[in-house]
Amino acid sequence: MTSFNLDDYIRKIPDFPKMGILFYDITSILASPVAFRYCIEKMSEIYKDKNIDAIAAIEARGFLFAAAFAFNMNIPIIPIRKKGKLPGVTLARKYALEYAQAEIEVHSADVPRGKRVLLTDDLIATGGTLNAARSLLSEGGAQVPEIFGIVGLPFLNYSKILDPTPVTTLINYQSE
Ligand code: AMP
Repeated sequence: MTSFNLDDYIRKIPDFPKMGILFYDITSILASPVAFRYCIEKMSEIYKDKNIDAIAAIEARGFLFAAAFAFNMNIPIIPIRKKGKLPGVTLARKYALEYAQAEIEVHSADVPRGKRVLLTDDLIATGGTLNAARSLLSEGGAQVPEIFGIVGLPFLNYSKILDPTPVTTLINYQSE
């Protein structure tokens, strides 16, 4: 797959969900078995020797990649959801968005104490959501040695907030 260009499979939608935002849509990856397979194989190649015990993913698009990766690697998935969606006992974390507050939760029983959890999302913008997710997993006693996103927007400085956890992406964009 040397000539494969993932950019060809990412739909760009200007002014969504609001004026001035260029939305990088990964549903066009999911619509292409070639592109989806490329992503899952790349992820598996990157993490196969890194002793990852489980993958955590943020709803909803993050789940799709995490599920295929987990199946491929034969490891558990830890779903991290918006507040109020998980029925069991949860750990919760509030975090700031640009103009509002958000809250995410994880089932505390699903967080594996002392294990190495790869934390993932489809796209990393400011890194705020992943930062909150990382602290949830840490509170539950898991280690988060690595963070992964299919798409990265490094000009939003996510590495600073996610420091010192190494962040890997398959493709980066430099502007909105
Ligand atoms: P953040 O917490 O700022 O890193 O935002 C992360 C979440 O917002 C990710 O789950 C993305 O799916 C979504 N998101 C933020 N900005 C964009 C964008 N420009 N294009 C597509 N999705 C985005």
